[in-house]
Amino acid sequence: MIPRETVQQILDAARIEEVVGDYVTLKRRGSDWWGCCPFHNEKTPSFHVVPSKGIYYCFGCHKGGSAVGFIMEYEHLSWPEALKHLARKYKIDVVEEEEDADQIARRQRGESLMLVSEFAADFFRRQLRTDEGKSIAVEYFHSRGLEDSTIEKYGLGWAPVSRHALTDAAKAAGYKDEYLLETGLCASYDGESGKIHDRFYDRVVFPIHSVSGRVVAFGARTLRSKEDGKPYAKYVNSKESEIYVKNRSLYGLYFAKKAMGDKDKCYLVEGYLDVLSMHQLGITNVVASSGTALTEGQIGLIKRFTRNVTIMYDGDSAGIHAALRGIDMFLREDMNVRVVLIPDGDDPDSYSRKHTLSEVEDFLASSEQDFMSFKAAQLMQGTENDPIRRAEVINEIGDTIALMPDAVKRSTYINFLNDRYSIHHDALERKVSATRRKIVEDEARARRREKDGPEAAAPSSREAAPRPAEAAYQSPERAPQGLESLEENPVMGKAERDLLNFILANGTTPLKFPSDSEFYSGEDTVQTVFDFITQALEADERTFENPAYKAAYDAYSEEYYAGYTQAQIVKHLLDSEDRTVAYVTAQLSEDERYELSVKNLRDSMMNKGSWLTSYVPKAILVYQTCRLQCLIDAQMSALRQAQESGDAQAELDAMSEMMRLRNVLKAVKVKLGREKDSN
Ligand SMILES: [Zn+2]
Repeated sequence: MIPRETVQQILDAARIEEVVGDYVTLKRRGSDWWGCCPFHNEKTPSFHVVPSKGIYYCFGCHKGGSAVGFIMEYEHLSWPEALKHLARKYKIDVVEEEEDADQIARRQRGESLMLVSEFAADFFRRQLRTDEGKSIAVEYFHSRGLEDSTIEKYGLGWAPVSRHALTDAAKAAGYKDEYLLETGLCASYDGESGKIHDRFYDRVVFPIHSVSGRVVAFGARTLRSKEDGKPYAKYVNSKESEIYVKNRSLYGLYFAKKAMGDKDKCYLVEGYLDVLSMHQLGITNVVASSGTALTEGQIGLIKRFTRNVTIMYDGDSAGIHAALRGIDMFLREDMNVRVVLIPDGDDPDSYSRKHTLSEVEDFLASSEQDFMSFKAAQLMQGTENDPIRRAEVINEIGDTIALMPDAVKRSTYINFLNDRYSIHHDALERKVSATRRKIVEDEARARRREKDGPEAAAPSSREAAPRPAEAAYQSPERAPQGLESLEENPVMGKAERDLLNFILANGTTPLKFPSDSEFYSGEDTVQTVFDFITQALEADERTFENPAYKAAYDAYSEEYYAGYTQAQIVKHLLDSEDRTVAYVTAQLSEDERYELSVKNLRDSMMNKGSWLTSYVPKAILVYQTCRLQCLIDAQMSALRQAQESGDAQAELDAMSEMMRLRNVLKAVKVKLGREKDSN
């Protein structure tokens, strides 16, 4: 257990824009920050960070919450784990109160895997100090020009020749076989169940860090050469696990991400040593796809920090082909792609070791080519006297241009190729249009398939929908994503959600009713939105029917009576250990979403105060109509039951109660109608 004071210390230290900024490139707009959402795929930023409230909110997929919530969501951590994660970031010591056996057992599986990985990383690192490690691994790293500080910083290590060194050490330290196998650090012997051995042995080890800097996997390289006889793999990599998804991992990203954002550019290389040598030289915005072919997920990772990528590969034909393959994937994601080929049989690693920082920088700046010049030059080579090959190449180039979502860019490239290679303008344009049409159709089809997914609920689609007359104050018809699933009583869901929205967005705002209003309570009485709603509920002897909303309401109530400000209350609720409360708060504490749908009405209003005095009472009336409808439904089934069982007295009772409720409902509806008309 983390002591209460430490929890508070961590929550106070965690600045939302800093925490989110570790994962997402944020651009300032006014006092807030915007970026592309890390939780769904998007091209235009709809991810909103509000430092004054300490929260983030995505208008695309409607995820939102506090700094702790962000870490929980992104790193898939529990509440205490996320706190510890933030404590590490802000260098706050967490001295845990004693855990009981139960708590230890309840620790998340993911965290166990992380701990095993970190134990292994530490183990491999310590092996560099053994005689074997010194004479083989350290020797090798030095021969590749790596300094001790680099070896240390990137956590390089040595997996000993013995096939059970790590297994023995991990078991002695109490790590379970299950986790050693799941992380792929160990494997079991064929046919001999129960026995496990190291998967990484007799190799130098490169730990792979997550975006937030924890070791999640390893790449290991053998130093043996073919002459030793047996077939061998040059590299062995961790298999995928709960904590390591190759598709979401790039070697060096944790160390490169800041420079990628600052320089608004990323260099993509092929190998671990390319990354390390470039970083050591001082060019730190460099990452590698580490052995695997580049994936869309990895491109998405880069895009979070910058849209400008330069592919840096060997000038040999394998390197050129790899570069050509990468280009199309980047274009599809609307990124700006350049290519640098390292000359003279060098790779980025060897080249950077032979030159000084300024020489390498000059070389990169002067030799990077626009992707299209690069691709066209490569493909057009030797086609001068081969019209068939030339036609094929033009089609291929047309397909590449068609991938670009931006029409202006497409036509710029068509003109460029016409000028530079005399590729006939019209022919190329026809090819581009045809391919583009097909791409757009495919995309539309894909969109239709996921129509009920997050994209369909984007803010723009909310504005137009007409509202039922009853909801005079026009709140969004659909619950923010995920909330509906929490609504156990759907009849009351929307009305309760609306009241809670008023409380969580404006609870402490005073309502100043004009003196001729039925709600006017005298010059000296200040009634807030929360007071007003609470009194209305209490007069009815009601509370929220939906447990999720009741929990949020109760939590708010406690904080409200403790005297906190609105911003403080919302922040506390977002940091709440009860994730339901935090989630509901994140979804309902912004009234911008709400304002979208009442924009027209708002425009004609004097200010927020008068807007609230008008709409909060209406929300109460709508709530009452929903509640009355529920009661009437209940009487209706009681009536049916009485009729079936022939209980005349019960039938009469149910009937008269139903009549009474119907009259009340009618009165409320009249009032609601009048309220509506008065605006
Ligand atoms: Zn999103």
